Amino acid sequence: MTASLVLVATPIGNLGDLSPRAVEALAGADLICCEDTRRTGRLLAHAGVGRGAAGRPRLRRLDEHTEAAAIPEILELLEAGAAVALVSDAGMPALNDPGARLVAATAEAGHAVTVVPGPSAGSAALAVSGLAADRHCFEGFLPRRGEARAGRLAEIAAHECTTVIYESPHRLAACLQDLADACGAQRRAVVARELTKLHEEIVRGRLGELRDWAAAGVKGEAVIVLEGAPARHGAVADADTGADVERLRGDVERLVSTGVTRRDAVAAVAVENRVPRRWLYNTVLRSNDRR
Ligand code: SAM
Repeated sequence: MTASLVLVATPIGNLGDLSPRAVEALAGADLICCEDTRRTGRLLAHAGVGRGAAGRPRLRRLDEHTEAAAIPEILELLEAGAAVALVSDAGMPALNDPGARLVAATAEAGHAVTVVPGPSAGSAALAVSGLAADRHCFEGFLPRRGEARAGRLAEIAAHECTTVIYESPHRLAACLQDLADACGAQRRAVVARELTKLHEEIVRGRLGELRDWAAAGVKGEAVIVLEGAPARHGAVADADTGADVERLRGDVERLVSTGVTRRDAVAAVAVENRVPRRWLYNTVLRSNDRR
């Protein structure tokens, strides 16, 4: 291996997913940067990558707190001709994991950066979801709270392409609840849970159903894959919103007749047609009163 930084994808659960090229890259590295030296040590032991008397490859912790401080040292090693590998705890490093700053600094310094692709939870979940995948938006983790979260949810509700969202196990139910509120309970989504592990589960449904399923408590790592908002149509009628009130009212009533609550039906139709939810609610009630 010549002086370069190589990003190596590692399993997201099933150790059998560690590729021969990944083992080769790890075995050939002088230094492996990793989030957790014990965890990566176990992976190396599993892969039969010996860490002989010379201590090669050496492990160095690189996480979100230590990344900035580690960069000068790693650049010096690369300057001296070392082969450096970067892994994270699971999946592709630098994707919602540490590493992006190191990659940028290494490239900026003129050293080669290469990649050994492999498992990544987001792309695995997207592929297995069956939702449209040609255009998709990879959101990673949503902001935890406040205006940042509300704003992101509103943006996501309007995305016409499929959205991929990471979530931690104990926040999954709350995330599905927020998505149902923002996108309407009728929007389709898929939760891909414990991918490649013994209890792998792919749950497909409407956001309202998934919200109810998760409310009982769901364990394990999960990715939410959300169907995109329907493409905007050009109907025009209402002076304030440009919306075709009668068509929207009809859409709401059709959903209500299938058992959806009026609140959820209004939310779904509002998002689909990009009209304010409160305006639609009042408009539908008004036009029902007139009948
Ligand atoms: N860089 C990683 C990758 O490429 O897969 C992602 C790291 S991110 C910190 C961790 C998130 O990935 C989890 O919160 C979960 O959303 C998702 N994840 C990781 N492993 C998973 C698995 N086996 N099944 C489902 N989701 C998983």
